[in-house]
Amino acid sequence: MSNTRFFEQVNLNFDRAAKHLKFTEGLLDQIKECNTVCHFTFPLKKDNGKIETIHAWRAEHSHHKLPTKGGIRYSMMVNEDEVKALAALMTYKCAVVDVPFGGAKGGIRIDRTKYTTAELERITRRFTFELVSKNFIGPDIDVPAPDYGTGEQEMAWIMDTYKSIEPSLNAEGCVTGKPVGLGGIRGRTEATGRGVFFGICEACENKEDMKELGLTVGLDGKTVIVQGFGNVGYHSAKYMMEAGAKIIAICEHDGAIHNEKGIDIEALYKHRNEHGTITTFKDVKLIKDSGSAMELECDILIPAALEAQITADNAPRIKAKIIGEGANGPTTQEAHDIMKDRGALIIPDNYLNAGGVTVSYFEWLKNLSHVRFGRMDRRFEENAARRMLDAMQVMTSRNLSDPEIAKIVAGAGEKDIVDSGLEDTMITAYNEINEIRKQYGVDLRTAAFISAVKKVGVIYEKMGIFP
Ligand code: GLU
Repeated sequence: MSNTRFFEQVNLNFDRAAKHLKFTEGLLDQIKECNTVCHFTFPLKKDNGKIETIHAWRAEHSHHKLPTKGGIRYSMMVNEDEVKALAALMTYKCAVVDVPFGGAKGGIRIDRTKYTTAELERITRRFTFELVSKNFIGPDIDVPAPDYGTGEQEMAWIMDTYKSIEPSLNAEGCVTGKPVGLGGIRGRTEATGRGVFFGICEACENKEDMKELGLTVGLDGKTVIVQGFGNVGYHSAKYMMEAGAKIIAICEHDGAIHNEKGIDIEALYKHRNEHGTITTFKDVKLIKDSGSAMELECDILIPAALEAQITADNAPRIKAKIIGEGANGPTTQEAHDIMKDRGALIIPDNYLNAGGVTVSYFEWLKNLSHVRFGRMDRRFEENAARRMLDAMQVMTSRNLSDPEIAKIVAGAGEKDIVDSGLEDTMITAYNEINEIRKQYGVDLRTAAFISAVKKVGVIYEKMGIFP
């Protein structure tokens, strides 16, 4: 772990970008600060009758756009500094991909494996109650989502609790990452990993950059190491593999596995779900010191676990040519500089893992509009395409088979619309920050910060400061 605190780390990166920007004096300092942070403590009655004090936080970094947005994590590492840093990253991440939210983040300091489902439900519902009573949640105020250690189930409890206290037309939009039957959206679970994939894919399409790295264009045949096999790690690995990359190692907290020929990610996922660990998977070499597996020879390293995993200690030994940051804050600034100086391309977290919040935005829009994407126009699109195809068949005197026709005319359903919206968002933002990188002669991380701070700064400047 680096000695520099996480929020300071984020601000070191902010400062690098700030040097290139001209705003009224003092404004950049205001943007950097975390606007509000609340530390909650509340009692949990355990199943055995004992009372335990639970510590939780919610930080809202910037209110230049509302609602504020960001996940809630359950981890023993949660503290005020961490939620502030992560909330700040949310502000910049949303700005980079043009998602119109301010940044927020929350967390509960618990090891979720130590609690029963009933206890986790009580913790989640009580935290939601606390958030409501302090005005820290609402579809137009602050909208949580899943993060490390939380998923659909917690989001369902949050929504149900909120809705029972504040029943209103738009109550479902108080949280994203919900199960589809409860106002969730198709494609949200895989969204962060899918976005990581789209981002790396776009980077690997850049001929000049690949030439500089001594790599071929495209993902085909590239060797990949993924750190973390949670929601983000698994989905990133899955899509990379499907596009022809070779996943040669996966690192988890209890050990890493390695196979030069590539690991079948679907089989590994099944194995982990059945046995609770990846370390007993067949036909791989087990590496007990999980961290050292990140140092193996490879083209792409995807840290998809927690912050400060690549530090000045291990960065000199990391050989990957591309670092794709799936996690939030996995690389300290010192480590970033070490890897950059040896020529690595670092695709930063505040761009690369924005897929999650992008699809959260789509889910929130769906909740506010009360209609599933594709519901109104899917059949209309299909019929229009069918009429066009019929005319072409008459003109060319060529008849297609029914399955061929069905494939061509198929209208877009919710999942297709979400996926294309996500792909477009990730590609557009990559090209935007890559342009800034060239224009200012900086690295991609600084470019992403320049892009974000410019967008947020302009809003602050236009709004003026409330006297
Ligand atoms: N927790 C995710 C992140 O760090 C998603 C946040 C959201 O969807 O609001 O980006």
